[in-house]
Parts: sequence; structure tokens; C-alpha cells
Amino acid sequence: MKRNTDLLLAFMLALALFFALCTGKVYAKTVNVLAEETDRKVVCLTFDDGPSSLVTPVILDILEDEQVPATFFLVGRQIEGREEIVKRMVREGHSIGIHTFTHEYEKIYASKESLLKDIELTRRKIDALTGISPKIYRFPGGSFSIREELKSAVKEQGYTYIDWNACCRDGEIKNASPDRLVQEAISTSKEKNKVILLLHDSTTHKATADALPSIISYYREQGYAFSKL
Ligand SMILES: [Zn+2]
Repeated sequence: MKRNTDLLLAFMLALALFFALCTGKVYAKTVNVLAEETDRKVVCLTFDDGPSSLVTPVILDILEDEQVPATFFLVGRQIEGREEIVKRMVREGHSIGIHTFTHEYEKIYASKESLLKDIELTRRKIDALTGISPKIYRFPGGSFSIREELKSAVKEQGYTYIDWNACCRDGEIKNASPDRLVQEAISTSKEKNKVILLLHDSTTHKATADALPSIISYYREQGYAFSKL
């Protein structure tokens, strides 16, 4: 009987290893990085507004080369035609969060009902494609100026909304060079042990992909560990 149990255990371990190898990279999962009570330096790279055909695959290639996990907050209506890109994110061990279906502020923030509908549409789209029902959410524009009523509604649905405490300002500075984006990421991360960095992977953000290797190098040199959410 003991031998059978040992064999079963060995088989299960082998199976787990097999799946780990098949799925490629297996990244350590760290949730609530900012809440951790340690001095460990951790950075979470978070990408909003994708997937895009032009920029997201380049970013995924870089993350794969660098062996760095990231978190993608997706726009539901952009998934159509880019299903393989989203599947690749999951296959390569990245986290998926909900951003919005339409990204049209007037529509989604009109009422609690319209916000929840926008979130649910995105959740269903991601779930149907990947089997994952994300639990993390990022308000378009961040939660900073969002009405309490809407923040509570999101929490009541079981979501954790996640903002950022550093950014490369790729959403603000028009036609910024990759070097400028790297400098912005560095200056907004200064003195922070836990960094959630906002980046974008929509179609107009080629410079962000170009800046990414240097951004990763900077955090690595500064002794940060990379985590997804
Ligand atoms: Zn956005």
C-alpha cells in the first residue's frame, strides 16, 4: 500500500513538472505585493489598454527573453482578432486583469450599472477565451478621482482594484522617446521599495516596447524582484 502511495506521489510530481515545462515559464505568484510587510524590493510591470497586434507581441517577446512576469489589464473589445495574443499571455505565466470593454469614460462612468456592465462584458470575454475569471481590475484613469459609490460597487463584485505608484508617463507625453520613458519610470519609482509601474501596450505605444528592456535592466540593477499581481 505504501509503495502504491509513493508511486502515486511520484507520478503526480512528474505530472506537475511536465505541465510546468510544457507551459514554459512558471513565475512565482505574488498577490498584494504592496501589502507585504517586508523591505524586499518588488516591482510589478502592469500594461493597460491592450491587447494590440502591433505592440503587445513585442512586449511579450521581451518579457520572455528577460524571464519577467507582468500583468495585463485588458480592453474587452480589443480581444476580437487577437485571441492568440491573450492566450499567449496566459500560457507564458502572466496575470490578466480587467480594464474595460469600451474605454469610453462617459459611458462607463455614467452609473454604477453601466460600470458593472462594462466590467462584466470584459470578464465574460476573457473567461470564454482563457477559462480565467479575473479578480483584479483597473479603473480607466485610475481610482484616484472615482466616486465612492463606484469603488464600492466594484469591491462588492469581489474585485480588487489596483492603481499604480509609478509610471513611465507613456499615456501623457506625446511622442516621447524611449529614453524619456525610461527616465520617467526611474524618477517616479525613486525611494519606493514596492513599485507598481503603469505602462501601455496599445497600438500607439511602440516607444514603450522600445523602452522596456532598459526599464527592466534598471530595476534589476537596483535589486528589485519582478512580480505579477
Ligand atoms: Zn486605459
